[in-house]
Amino acid sequence: MNRTQALRALIEGNRRHARGAHHHPHQDADRIAFLVSGQSPWAAVLGCSDSRVPPEIVFDQGLGDLFVVRTAGHVCDATVLASLGYAVRHLQVPLVVVLGHTGCGAVRAAIAHRPDEPEDCLCAAIRPAIEGARLCAGDLCDQTVRLHVEGMVAYLRQALSGPEGPGVVGAVYHLDSGRVEFLTPGDLTPRSGLPG
Ligand SMILES: [Zn+2]
Repeated sequence: MNRTQALRALIEGNRRHARGAHHHPHQDADRIAFLVSGQSPWAAVLGCSDSRVPPEIVFDQGLGDLFVVRTAGHVCDATVLASLGYAVRHLQVPLVVVLGHTGCGAVRAAIAHRPDEPEDCLCAAIRPAIEGARLCAGDLCDQTVRLHVEGMVAYLRQALSGPEGPGVVGAVYHLDSGRVEFLTPGDLTPRSGLPG
């Protein structure tokens, strides 16, 4: 599957999820047996650990389809980057999706953080997006999520670039509708050679 086909499969799977018409693909005994000899997932997802946004369910996929890394607030540290790099280099995953979501508790916690309190690494990673979102109209949490997703996409396009670099796209899952909104669906070009 190439990156365009992968993106299409995610979009179609999410449409099924939002309609409540899941196919639950690749979850039977035959699939379990087939995967014993190896895996070839066709997309990697960096998502939030929030219990309401499991990628395999919101994209209606099954065993062996998605390579998933989840942290609170979809924050990317060295271990997360190395995990995504493993998926790209060793599993040849053609597409990486950064998946934020509305009403993100980790983002709300970072917004509520007081300057006189010690800052953990999640707050520190989200803070630049908060500062950007304060300049935007609309809900501060959801604007922060969007900017944080876009920041992670820009970072991963550079960090994962190379001759066989994956497409990297950002997306936001809407808790109220079950729909995934792709922020950059038409731009799958890996950004190799970007300055520092
Ligand atoms: Zn979250």
